[in-house]
Amino acid sequence: MNLEIVLATHNAHKVAEFQRIIGERMPHATVVSYDGPEPVEDGTSFAANALIKARAAAAHTGRIALADDSGIVVDVLGEAPGILSARWAGHRAGDEANRLLLLDQLSDFARPNRGAEFRCTIALVVPEGLLDDATEFVAEGRWRGTLAYEPRGSHGFGYDPIFEPDGLEVTAAELTPEQKNAQSHRALAFVELLPELERVAARVAARAGAGA
Ligand code: IMP
Repeated sequence: MNLEIVLATHNAHKVAEFQRIIGERMPHATVVSYDGPEPVEDGTSFAANALIKARAAAAHTGRIALADDSGIVVDVLGEAPGILSARWAGHRAGDEANRLLLLDQLSDFARPNRGAEFRCTIALVVPEGLLDDATEFVAEGRWRGTLAYEPRGSHGFGYDPIFEPDGLEVTAAELTPEQKNAQSHRALAFVELLPELERVAARVAARAGAGA
């Protein structure tokens, strides 16, 4: 039975990455992009925002839905930029302005005090109707590193050019996409998510088969 999983993102790179990772483990699943009404992302944590997006997609499509929310957390800034990562330098600012502001804020700090981590939360929501009970699950991945003094590298996006993952002397933007995908916060969240997604998919398939 082919199972459609709806991914609540418009980011084509994320759809492709989710498709690849899920496709490797679940050959009968197809990941499709959600194009329904957008909820207001007013949660105060990565998990809350991922759940808001996944719940909206599940309710609108009646299918298993996934949504992720991610960002960077800098030690000396507490949990910041956190959920404000995408708009740290203002709502109209882009990746480069966000990076430059963060580097400026950290300019007085020496390397041991430049610790940071990327975090990714993926929410899985099964709408009522597919199973007897609505089911929700949240997985999280964390990728620790140090903020560089200057941007380096041309791969990736966002804060990649100023993030040096622990144990490496390059920034995340100097890794190939394959190298990054093998160790990133998103990859780690997937490691936690996939067994649950497989369990849920098997329950949905069994219930559909029993009702057929
Ligand atoms: P979103 O989860 O796509 O909304 O991402 C939020 C923001 O966090 C992005 O705009 C980036 O600035 C930052 N971010 C999240 N994941 C990454 C990553 O893997 N590399 C670099 N920046 C990231």
